[in-house]
Amino acid sequence: MIFIVYFLEYFRLIYNVFRKLFYKNSFAIASQAKNSRLNSAQLFLISFFLSPLVGLIFMIKTKKRFSYYVYQYKCPRCKYYFTENYKICSHYEKDGYKIELKEVKKIMT
Ligand SMILES: [Zn+2]
Repeated sequence: MIFIVYFLEYFRLIYNVFRKLFYKNSFAIASQAKNSRLNSAQLFLISFFLSPLVGLIFMIKTKKRFSYYVYQYKCPRCKYYFTENYKICSHYEKDGYKIELKEVKKIMT
């Protein structure tokens, strides 16, 4: 009988250590959410229930590659980038040419 009590006490001690460790590390991982496509709550839950190691893997795997995109309009002829959509290139407009601008997604770092 004493062995069962001892075992339970031992188990509870291990559990508490792990829980504290998981809790602390889960918070640390969740605080890094700004670099991830997941939000901090998602990262915290993954870390807390699946271990902080899994949370860390998720954080790295879902890392944002770029900060944001900007749409620009490129003229295929003069290779000039316009920030506003003019539909046709103004450089050739006066010469009578109508060069259609192509929408390009530019990555801002
Ligand atoms: Zn042009």
